[in-house]
Amino acid sequence: EREDAAEVHAGAVTTADGVPIEVAANVGHPSELAGAADRGADGIGLFRTEFLFLDRETPPDEDEQYEAYREALRAFPDGRVIVRTLDVGGDKPIPYLDLPEEENPFLGERGIRRSLGADADLFETQLRALLRAAGDAQGGLAVMLPLVATVEEFEAAAERVEAVAAALDGEGIARGAPDLGVMVETPAAVLLAPELAARADFLSIGTNDLAQYVNAAARGDERVADLHDPRHPAVLRAVARTVEAVRGTDAWVGMCGEMAGDPDLTELLVGLGLDELSMSAVTIPDVKARVERTNAADARELAERALRAHTKREVIDLLSQQPDQP
Ligand code: PEP
Ligand code: MG
Repeated sequence: EREDAAEVHAGAVTTADGVPIEVAANVGHPSELAGAADRGADGIGLFRTEFLFLDRETPPDEDEQYEAYREALRAFPDGRVIVRTLDVGGDKPIPYLDLPEEENPFLGERGIRRSLGADADLFETQLRALLRAAGDAQGGLAVMLPLVATVEEFEAAAERVEAVAAALDGEGIARGAPDLGVMVETPAAVLLAPELAARADFLSIGTNDLAQYVNAAARGDERVADLHDPRHPAVLRAVARTVEAVRGTDAWVGMCGEMAGDPDLTELLVGLGLDELSMSAVTIPDVKARVERTNAADARELAERALRAHTKREVIDLLSQQPDQP
């Protein structure tokens, strides 16, 4: 059945009543690009760039990064490729970066915090490579910032992008002007979603980290694994609040955490109003099939009921009443 689904859903999908949902792939290494295209990804919703920095003694230079971003764009000539800037710290250590020993690495120097601080040089090099690649991509490349918690961080990053653009122009190097987006993976970003959506081109909800921070339970810690379940009402409400903040702005909103790749949650996510879902390529055919079987009006009703739930148990019971359940 999976093979059939992959063939049938090679193009863009809409719900049964015509609401378009972009279904994209999360990619952590270029070796995954061909598989993502084969499984019908519309584009890349999260291109993790840590692979460029791992298993080596020194960081990749601008040209090496430029080539890697071009390779991703070549795999999706008609789709959007969203490249996340380096997201180290927390659970993603890199030896030569000399990361601090921290008592609470998930609450320390991670993601955008390092890019605006200790890794400012790396950030500049990465932005140069990204803007150059965007120049070749006719609008298909976008840049996404991890772990944003404040409007100041977004504005500082946007200023760095402007400075890099001006520098490239001064050197006569061709470049593009990629869309700039924010990963919503902290409760602060949820609460500031209106202000972030007014400034960014898009928001993408990273539920792996968001569930960890909303429920105060370290990801990867088996003893608190239940608290990472995105079906907890607090996590659902955080997602809903983010989506509502984007409505009425020019921005769009997607999801690139593991939650997006669970076909049993597709109807709920459509009902919550997400424009895009990005996931491990393996689940794309099933999620696309679910989107096409979903009625957006029914999905909205399901989402409204789920948002009134008091407990995860109630959410699970609601989901099990979907007609699609096998
Ligand atoms: C997330 O946090 O949901 C996410 C997609 O990013 P990562 O898993 O790489 O931290
Ligand atoms: Mg994350």
